[in-house]
Amino acid sequence: MVNGFKKQAKTNMVGKRVGVIGGGQLAWMMALEAPALSIDLIVQAESETEPAVKIAKQFVIGNVDDAIATNKMAQMCDVITFENEFVDLKGLQELNLKEVFKPSLNTLKPLLDKYHQRSFLQQVNLPVPQFSLWSSQEQVIADYGFPLVLKARRHGYDGQGTFIIKDLECLQQLAKTVPVTELLVEEFVPFERELGIIAARNEAGEIAIYPVTETFQQNQVCHWTITPADVPKKVAEEVKAIAHTILDKLEVIGVFGIEFFLTADNRVLVNEIAPRTHNSGHYTLDGCETSQFTMQLQALTGLPLGSTELKSAGAIMVNLLGFEESDTDYLQKRSQILQIPNSFLHWYGKTSRPGRKLGHVTVILDEKELTQAKSIIEQIESLWYGE
Ligand code: ADP
Repeated sequence: MVNGFKKQAKTNMVGKRVGVIGGGQLAWMMALEAPALSIDLIVQAESETEPAVKIAKQFVIGNVDDAIATNKMAQMCDVITFENEFVDLKGLQELNLKEVFKPSLNTLKPLLDKYHQRSFLQQVNLPVPQFSLWSSQEQVIADYGFPLVLKARRHGYDGQGTFIIKDLECLQQLAKTVPVTELLVEEFVPFERELGIIAARNEAGEIAIYPVTETFQQNQVCHWTITPADVPKKVAEEVKAIAHTILDKLEVIGVFGIEFFLTADNRVLVNEIAPRTHNSGHYTLDGCETSQFTMQLQALTGLPLGSTELKSAGAIMVNLLGFEESDTDYLQKRSQILQIPNSFLHWYGKTSRPGRKLGHVTVILDEKELTQAKSIIEQIESLWYGE
C-alpha cells in the first residue's frame, strides 16, 4: 500500500512534456534520456532532417527564432527549454508564455548579445577580457593594439563571427566584407589553456556543478576535452565559484555551459556563457553519474538534480568533425575507434561537410590512463582524420 502510493507520487512528479527550441544533437541527446524520466520530448526543428526529430515524441517545424512555431509547441508542453540561444526574445516575450520558459526569458535577456553578456559579467564583478563597442579605428588600435579580437554580437557559433585580427591589413581586409563598426571589440587573451564547466540550478535554488574540464579549440572550434582539467585546486575552486555566482545571480533554471580562459599566471577570465547544455559537457553522458542532458530535464521538471561525480578517474571527449562533403556514415572508421577500451561513440546521423560536428567519442579513463589522455586523443584523431 505504502509502496503503491510512493510509486504514484513519483510518476506524477516526472510526467512532464518538455519542449526544446532547436532540433540538433543537443536536443537529440536530451530526447534519448527523456524516456527514463517518463518525460515526453517535443522539439522545434528547422527541418525534418534534424537529428532530434527522428526520436522526439512530437515536433513542430520552425526556425529557432520562429516565435509562432514556439507558440504552437507551447500548446503541446508544460515546459519549454533551449538548445540554441539564437531566439527572437521580443517575439517570445510577446507570446505571454513567461512561466513556460526554463530558463526564463529574464534569465536569457543579458546573455543573448555578447556585449550585454560581457557587461553583465562586469557588473557582477566577474573577471572578463577588456571589451568595448567599436569607437573609431584609431581608438580601437590605441586601446587594444594588435592582435585584437572582433566578435559578432549575436549568432556567433563555433568561431563563426569571431575574428582574430593580427594587424592593420587584416582589419582593413575584414572591413571590406563585415560591418566592423557593429562588432564587439576585445583584447586578445594569450591564454595558456581554455576551461569549461557545466552547472545546473533548479527552481528551489539547488545548484550542482560538474568537474572543471580542459577544452581545446582549433580555429575556434572545439576538438577535444579532458576532465578533470589538470589545474591547481585554487583555479578549479575559482571556476566553480564563478559558475555558482552566475547561476545564482541569473536565477537560472536548467543547465548552463560556461567557458573560461586560463592565463599562464593562473588568472581565470570568463569567455562565454551558453544558456543551455554544451559541447564541453558531452563527456558527462558516459563519464558522470548524471549526464548534462538528464540534469537539464531534472532541473526543469522540479526533480532533485542528482550527482555530478565522475564514474572513474576521468574522461576524454573527441569531436568527430566533418572533413569533406559526403553522406557516408563512416562505419569503418567508427568501428576502429570503438576498438579503444572503454570508448563510447555517439553518431548524430547528419550528412558530412567540412567542420560540421558529426558525432563524438568519449573514453572513460582510470588513474593511469588519465596521464595518457592526450595520446588517446591523438589516436582517435588519427583514426578519424587519417586515410
Ligand atoms: P563562439 O561563440 O563562436 O564559440 P567564442 O567567443 O567562444 O566564439 O570564441 C571561440 C574561440 O576563439 C575561443 O574558444 C578561443 O579559442 C578563441 N577566442 C575567442 N575570444 C578570444 C580572445 N579574446 N582572445 C583569444 N582567443 C579568443
